[in-house]
Amino acid sequence: MTARILVVDDIPANVKLLEVRLLAEYFEVLTATNGPEAIETCENGKVDVVLLDVMMPDMDGFEVCRRLKSDPATSHIPVVMITALDQTTDRVRGLEAGADDFLTKPVNDLQLMTRVKSLVRLKTLTDELRLRASTTRNIGIEELLNRSLAEADGLPKVLLVDERSSSAARVVKMLAGAAEVDVAADPHAGFFQAAENAYECILVSTGFVDFDPLRLCSQLRSLDRTRFLPIILLAEQGEDSRIIRALELGVNDYLIRPIDQHELTARLRTQVRRKRYNDRLRASVTQTIEMAVTDGLTGLHNRRYLDSHLQTLFDRAVTRRRPLSVMITDLDRFKSINDTHGHDGGDDVLREFASRLRRNVRGIDLACRFGGEEFVVVMPDTDGAIAERVAERIRAEIATMPFPIGRDGKAVEVTISIGVSSILKGQDTVEAMMKRADLALYEAKNGGRNRVVAKAA
Ligand code: GH3
Ligand code: MG
Ligand code: MG
Repeated sequence: MTARILVVDDIPANVKLLEVRLLAEYFEVLTATNGPEAIETCENGKVDVVLLDVMMPDMDGFEVCRRLKSDPATSHIPVVMITALDQTTDRVRGLEAGADDFLTKPVNDLQLMTRVKSLVRLKTLTDELRLRASTTRNIGIEELLNRSLAEADGLPKVLLVDERSSSAARVVKMLAGAAEVDVAADPHAGFFQAAENAYECILVSTGFVDFDPLRLCSQLRSLDRTRFLPIILLAEQGEDSRIIRALELGVNDYLIRPIDQHELTARLRTQVRRKRYNDRLRASVTQTIEMAVTDGLTGLHNRRYLDSHLQTLFDRAVTRRRPLSVMITDLDRFKSINDTHGHDGGDDVLREFASRLRRNVRGIDLACRFGGEEFVVVMPDTDGAIAERVAERIRAEIATMPFPIGRDGKAVEVTISIGVSSILKGQDTVEAMMKRADLALYEAKNGGRNRVVAKAA
């Protein structure tokens, strides 16, 4: 994982110490020895995570953090406050200033690397979301990025797996107001509970008398439903080798007892945010794909979708020796509807037409807006005679029921012309079939409009 880490400390020796360790893990390192310099670096460059000393002359770490978090240009950069040991008040003040995580001096290597990696992953996701939000104007994503965690999706739903009831009760109490916590005392039951419910993070205690907590972690990682579920290990002092194995298994983060409430909530928040960003990203990929093949005005598929599917439907029909028909419909004198009722009135007509079209075709038919006021319906398993009857039914339904326009009860009479064609036995191509439908439509227009013309050959 390459990422750019900004180390901020007024004592150059401290900067050097962190720099060396981060470089050894192949991170890129930037440094600053005072607040204003740190802020400038964040504004200018691609900083992925800031490691920020609290105690600095002039502008202290809290102030730097506050400024970074209140500027939209830098507010998305994760900030880790480096506080003196046992300074609970510092952690609270850091949280209030918007810090994402804490490390205590002297900084432990394992902690340093897990925090930094965890936050770099989160940053990668937010960057992608920001990019997407700015290129696709995806409102959902903008909202997700701007609202705080609790506002966006409610409290995180968490499962705590811990067989010691006193320790479980302490953790539940710490998370009161910050998460909805269920407790599983039995690790086997906990595993099923995790698989069956929509938790957003699992806290796994290491304190079992007769069970290896890493077994649970690896089971969670191997099951599809829980593969991406964040896991935080609640470990004891001196369990470093177990923690390292856990991280190798894919556990996302850990805390060492006695658990600090602020640390716990900060780490939980980071994991849950990452999960939510991930989920949202996945949903937005699906949405982007849908948007690319859907016509915004009518909700029907667009021409791009038709182009990429028509050939497949055509080939399938040929291989299976099944009929296939298409119709091209065009609204009659639509220009004059626009001229009389305005463009918005025209849009109302197009929407209503699309919904009538949808009602009159089967689920396996492919209805698309081909362009302007032209629509195409592809009908698998349908021969020319049936397609002509369907077209006639649609024509009649359009012509006999006036279209409402606007909200004040106005209505306009609309007619359409339809050209129908079908696959010919022997040599035929998509292009030739579409051409025949187009010619049929042209004949329908020339013949006086409000009619169906079918091309048998
Ligand atoms: P014809 O019976 O020969 O088809 O006449 P027509 O007026 O329907 O045909 P023409 O192709 O001359 O005009 C089509 C009109 O459709 C022109 C264009 O402004 C309008 N149009 C195309 N797309 C939209 C749209 O999305 N909304 C609205 N309101 N009008 C559209
Ligand atoms: Mg027209
Ligand atoms: Mg036209």
